[in-house]
Amino acid sequence: MDRAFRMPDCIRLEVGEPNFPTPPHVVDAATQAARDGRTRYTENPGIPELRTRIAEHFTRDTGRPTDASQVTITTGAVAALYTALMSITNPGDEVILTSPAWPNYLMQMKLLGIRPVAIPTTAETDYAPSISQLESAISGKTKAILLNTPSNPTGAVISNTTMAEIVDFARQADIYVVSDEVYDRMTFENPHVSAASHDTDGRVVCIHSFSKTYAMTGWRVGYAVAPPEIAQLIINCQEPTVSCVNAPAQYGAIAALDGPQDVVLQMRDAYRERRDEVLRLLSSSGIDAHKPGGAFYIWVDITDSGRSDMDFAMDLIDKRQVTVVPGSTFGPGNEGRIRISLATAPTDLYEGVSRLVEEIKS
Ligand code: PLP
Repeated sequence: MDRAFRMPDCIRLEVGEPNFPTPPHVVDAATQAARDGRTRYTENPGIPELRTRIAEHFTRDTGRPTDASQVTITTGAVAALYTALMSITNPGDEVILTSPAWPNYLMQMKLLGIRPVAIPTTAETDYAPSISQLESAISGKTKAILLNTPSNPTGAVISNTTMAEIVDFARQADIYVVSDEVYDRMTFENPHVSAASHDTDGRVVCIHSFSKTYAMTGWRVGYAVAPPEIAQLIINCQEPTVSCVNAPAQYGAIAALDGPQDVVLQMRDAYRERRDEVLRLLSSSGIDAHKPGGAFYIWVDITDSGRSDMDFAMDLIDKRQVTVVPGSTFGPGNEGRIRISLATAPTDLYEGVSRLVEEIKS
């Protein structure tokens, strides 16, 4: 990214944020809130109206009856994840996750003194862990399994059957499931399945965000929905770290939930169209890429280039002015891949992918 910033004409395929603007009714609601003087601290866990709306949506979507007291509004999903992990672990505990994984998971675990236990996954299982892998990964120190569906970087969507098996495994092992579902509204074929919909005894903590769903990355509003005792710990962790989330942004979030949802569908449909075109461009040149069922990334095989992911990514910037994310950013063992983002405007996206193809073949 540093190198790309020095090249203003670089095509940016590494950026993980929507190229769409925040819907105007959200901007209006937040502006109006500020004008009306809603500029003070809010309750630590967020303003009651927003927590109530989220609890209603969550109950409807997952079938798990959820009370507003279980919802904490956080500074993006990133803070929801951090305080959730902080709440359920002590230093030295282990958390199981799959690889490739969004790099912030490992960074957060490092800060919290958690030992990550990564399970390698492949396209053959649609990047889901098998129960036998989970059995091998578990120890007396395991506190949780961290899931991400739809996944960044692979776009894999965990099926209903697999989700049921994983939550059942967690129940038998008496550990938590932390489920990062920030791309829940971005699925293309099969519907998103929340881990919460299989939670029968209060062991699932769900992580959500307004960032991707409503193109609100810079507003920093996310939330955690947790069993009551964990929700209280998350709220306790919020006071010393951020106190509360930006007040006008929380009013913007209410408008996002209450307002027209066609903006969400339009973005999702645009990502699907871009996905199909990018996959067509890659496969017509014989380049292997995983077909993502959700989110807005494509995980591309670059082994044909004969270079490591890092060397390839640097060559791509220097020779063709295109940035991508090297696979090893998502954990060791992913050196033969790079991630591109579909959240870039189509003209740049397709031009960038054409140059990527040329570089792999060069
Ligand atoms: N989880 C995943 C898988 C992500 O890809 C991201 C952002 O890229 C986040 C969480 C963080 O989202 P937020 O902007 O709400 O902090």
